[in-house]
Amino acid sequence: MLSASVNPCLSCGACCAHFRVSFFWGECVSVGGAVPDALTVPVGPYHVAMLGTETRPARCAGLLGDIGAAVRCTLYAQRSSTCREFEASWVDGQHNPHCDAARAAYGLPPLNPPLRPDLSPGRVA
Ligand code: SF4
Ligand code: SF4
Repeated sequence: MLSASVNPCLSCGACCAHFRVSFFWGECVSVGGAVPDALTVPVGPYHVAMLGTETRPARCAGLLGDIGAAVRCTLYAQRSSTCREFEASWVDGQHNPHCDAARAAYGLPPLNPPLRPDLSPGRVA
């Protein structure tokens, strides 16, 4: 994992405490997937959500720490495809307006695109 100086997510966590994080139930451990069932809640016939993100205000039960300061996903290696596919803005050069929206909900500014893309880290891990 990259350090906090190059991985903005380690001092953010806003998306884990803003959106409903839902995914196909087949990603849970009990049916051969990786996501611990105890950290999920059913939200439809074929979908579950990370526990705590199905309510408002939302906060994933797997998130440790303080939003906008220092956070950690306690099931990082077992997180869902939804979590894996959500990228911080400008990772791999792509803007993610949903990242901006989550950060804004916590009073955090949007991430800036790198001034020198050729020198920026290729991806947040
Ligand atoms: S499982 Fe981890 S990455 Fe996914 S929403 Fe929860 S804390 Fe965030
Ligand atoms: S993806 Fe964006 S909103 Fe989510 S933790 Fe990283 S910087 Fe924050």
